Amino acid sequence: MSWYYAVNGQQAGPVEDAELQSMAMAGTVNASTLVWRAGMETWAALGTLMAPPAGPLETCLQCKQGFPAEQTIPLAGGAVCAGCKSVVLQRMREGLAPVASGKKYAGFWIRVIARLIDNTITSVAGYVFQIPMFIVLARSDKKAGPDLPWFLAMMALAVVASLATAAYYEAWFIRKKGATPGKMILGLKVIRARGGDFGWGLAVGRYFAFMLSGMLLYFGYFMAGWDEEKRALHDRICDTRVVAGS
Ligand SMILES: [Zn+2]
Repeated sequence: MSWYYAVNGQQAGPVEDAELQSMAMAGTVNASTLVWRAGMETWAALGTLMAPPAGPLETCLQCKQGFPAEQTIPLAGGAVCAGCKSVVLQRMREGLAPVASGKKYAGFWIRVIARLIDNTITSVAGYVFQIPMFIVLARSDKKAGPDLPWFLAMMALAVVASLATAAYYEAWFIRKKGATPGKMILGLKVIRARGGDFGWGLAVGRYFAFMLSGMLLYFGYFMAGWDEEKRALHDRICDTRVVAGS
């Protein structure tokens, strides 16, 4: 059957049934497009002529549009249309949720500021742990110098205790509040990509993954700058995200 159709008030065609269908799929013509074929008395909107599609429609996870089931592929626990398939597969390859969550992710700089606030708080504890070190220095003999083994032991104590305090501070707040005080002030929150609460293991583990990010010449932090969901290395390792506006 040869069809004529109207584009911008101009008559176009003729096209065959199959071509008209593929044009409808591509959006070149839509339900309101006027069409005519031999045998019709007047032009009519395409939507009034099209038979309802056979079978139920599947809703594409990505674009949320309905498609006949045979035009979708099962993916990520749902159906995805042909047009969205490559986008969804790419996201899955990158370890992202198949469909964008629509959340606002916190970028590199605001997270740096949050971290500076937290560092300022935890550094107070760090100074306290250095006190024994200075006591050893103060009590040292003027001529012989400080008792080196004691001094080194107190220094090691200060380092280990500071690190443990920072890890505990971070993990305690992430578990209880979903954010450290620095992040809370700036309205940021740490979430698990696939939902759920933080246990101690994950909360502490994320702190040490964060340390690892820093050890790689801060490269692990910079990764957040160009990631679609602003994941730093420690977010990738722990499958977490930092979201803004909470
Ligand atoms: Zn789609």
